[in-house]
Amino acid sequence: MKILYVFAHPEPRSLNGALRDVALAELQAQGHQVQVSDLYAMGWKAEVDRSDFPAWDADRPLAVVPASKEGYAAQSLTPDVQAEIDKLLWADVLILQFPLWWFAMPAMLKGWVDRVFAYGFAYGVGEHSERRWGDRYGEGRLAGKRAMLVVTVGGWREHYAPRGVNGPIEDLLFPIHHGVLYYPGYEILPPFLAFRSDRFDEAAFAAAADELRGRLRTLQSTPPIPFRPQNSGDYEIPAMQLRAGLERPGASGFGLHLAPPRDGVAPRPPASAATVEA
Ligand code: FAD
Repeated sequence: MKILYVFAHPEPRSLNGALRDVALAELQAQGHQVQVSDLYAMGWKAEVDRSDFPAWDADRPLAVVPASKEGYAAQSLTPDVQAEIDKLLWADVLILQFPLWWFAMPAMLKGWVDRVFAYGFAYGVGEHSERRWGDRYGEGRLAGKRAMLVVTVGGWREHYAPRGVNGPIEDLLFPIHHGVLYYPGYEILPPFLAFRSDRFDEAAFAAAADELRGRLRTLQSTPPIPFRPQNSGDYEIPAMQLRAGLERPGASGFGLHLAPPRDGVAPRPPASAATVEA
């Protein structure tokens, strides 16, 4: 398979850097073709501004959505953004690796998403009308591809459990899984999570490395998180609300957007098939 590995940590000698090296060695051992976007090493420009849209008239107030739309359509986005779009189109699998910072991805990686996920490419795709609200949430330009997060987390797994004080990790990652990656069409694999990452030692690292290798060996066969496709009939149009009666018993909030399995047993999205902690 073709893999795009996006890495967002400022220090190659960090825990993240060491896990990244494990991952790349495993992917290469499996015979995959791999491209790496090491955002800090690339000096990635994280902020969206006027310089991203060279064809936008200098006298015109910058309006980012139409500027992105025009720029993508005219192929006049900047070369760094276009190169990342090309990598995304090339790859069968996208892996994003980052440390959890303030319950979210680092600004560097968010800035990669902001700039690369352009209008007409990652959003604004398909028919938008009273009958249809675009090709998104399971459909879109990146449909048929898979994505997975590799995240190091300072806190304990218990603190991110359903009753944990930090909130469930699957809820915290929902905006990335569902809002950023499922939106343009990716199937989302359960994340690889390394908890208590600031306390890692040799033993914890060895366990994490083993788990990570295992996850990378099963990229093709791991069942994705069962998010509901938008255009499957589960949502009312145009309000795009889940139809009454389709929710799993007791489901609310983000959990509404998980489809029940066919046998009727309520699913619990795996926070990770591999949750490692120090
Ligand atoms: P490093 O600092 O590089 O290393 C961590 C530990 O692993 C060190 O003890 C190091 O000695 C050891 N180590 C490194 N490499 C190896 C190796 N090869 N083998 C064995 N041991 C090794 N956490 C949360 O839970 N929630 C948050 O919201 C959150 N917000 C944060 C916000 C900021 C701005 C920052 C800086 C941290 C935040 N954290 C949070 C903690 C953060 O998630 C962790 O610091 C991060 O995941 C650790 O990854 P790292 O690669 O930076 O680790």
